[in-house]
Amino acid sequence: MSRSTHHARLLWCAAVDRTWRRVEHGGRTCLMGKCIHCNRKITLGLDGTPGPTTTLEHIVPRTHGGTHAPGNLALACARCNGQKGVRLDGRPLHDPTLQRVIATLGERRERRLRTPPPAWTLPPRPPDTLADPAPEAGDDHSAAPNPRTRRRKRRR
Ligand SMILES: [Zn+2]
Repeated sequence: MSRSTHHARLLWCAAVDRTWRRVEHGGRTCLMGKCIHCNRKITLGLDGTPGPTTTLEHIVPRTHGGTHAPGNLALACARCNGQKGVRLDGRPLHDPTLQRVIATLGERRERRLRTPPPAWTLPPRPPDTLADPAPEAGDDHSAAPNPRTRRRKRRR
């Protein structure tokens, strides 16, 4: 997945999530919204460049066939995304805990869905399908490498 495709996907994810809005932050305009898990504030640049802790969350994990469809994508802080991966991605899809988390996040995502604000300038929406190769390091997650990142990588 190219960087620009990834950034477009992040932007679209924020555009259809009602917790995201434009804010002035550190003297410049950026987008700010809430982690799908913990509601901690996370940011994106206007071009979709993720803030230091902003990651793309696949509600149904990609390892379990989750796609890039808008309803399956959410923005999450790196900490929550990593913890979810460590805790759940190794489980089979029918695992009750995994199923419960998928259902809870899916409902939350559904409640947050909105039509993109007209004032936002958005790139063409990237396709939902997983045309790109299997996830690699730095694909989903932009946070600087750290021990947690390494753990996340192994699960996929
Ligand atoms: Zn979080």
